[in-house]
Amino acid sequence: IQIIRAEYVASAVKQSQYPPMNEEDKEFVFVGRSNVGKSSLINSLSRQHGLARTSGTPGKTQTLNFYQLTAKLDETSRQRFFLVDLPGYGYARTGREARRQWAKFIEEYLLSSPRIKLVCQLIDIRHKPMESDILTYRWLEEQGLPLQVIATKADKISRMTVNKQLKAIQEGIGMRNGQLLPYSSAKGTGRDQLLDVIGRLLLN
Ligand code: GDP
Repeated sequence: IQIIRAEYVASAVKQSQYPPMNEEDKEFVFVGRSNVGKSSLINSLSRQHGLARTSGTPGKTQTLNFYQLTAKLDETSRQRFFLVDLPGYGYARTGREARRQWAKFIEEYLLSSPRIKLVCQLIDIRHKPMESDILTYRWLEEQGLPLQVIATKADKISRMTVNKQLKAIQEGIGMRNGQLLPYSSAKGTGRDQLLDVIGRLLLN
């Protein structure tokens, strides 16, 4: 598939602020620790540089951000879908109460939208998964949400060590099935593969 249009549509902290969507609209959700490269990935996927903000200040975005994309499936058919950017988790400085609120609000969203086709969980390829990554992964799996784990910033390590790091992440989060996708927003690595995954789900 090819992305032909991408635009920001809404930010929300509660359900009444979600953008109007039809029953058949599909959502693809992105979660990960602050600074994992989520905004960069959304920009890279949509090929629109300033679509999601990227910042050096982790933990700043505390809202659900909705982006509407249009994909060209073939010469004659187009389909719109949504990318949903969740606030980064595991940022120590937001404090315990804020983290609890985060969880409540995110859980409400993840458990109430029938349109979610895929949750992409981003983990930095350079590091062993942190506790927040592991807990999030387990929770998403327990809820039966369709998951794609993405190892971000793949350009930051040598090609030789990519597989070793993928394995360490896989073991660290206790992933039994599915495949980890290495991604580099800087180089575009993994973009085609992720678009393939999205494209297949759009056709379903
Ligand atoms: P977010 O907080 O998860 O949205 O993370 P950002 O997208 O803002 O990225 C955090 C930092 O990592 C920024 O300085 C980005 O430029 C950098 N970054 C993100 N993705 C990549 C990548 O694929 N390669 C490299 N080299 N840097 C990246």
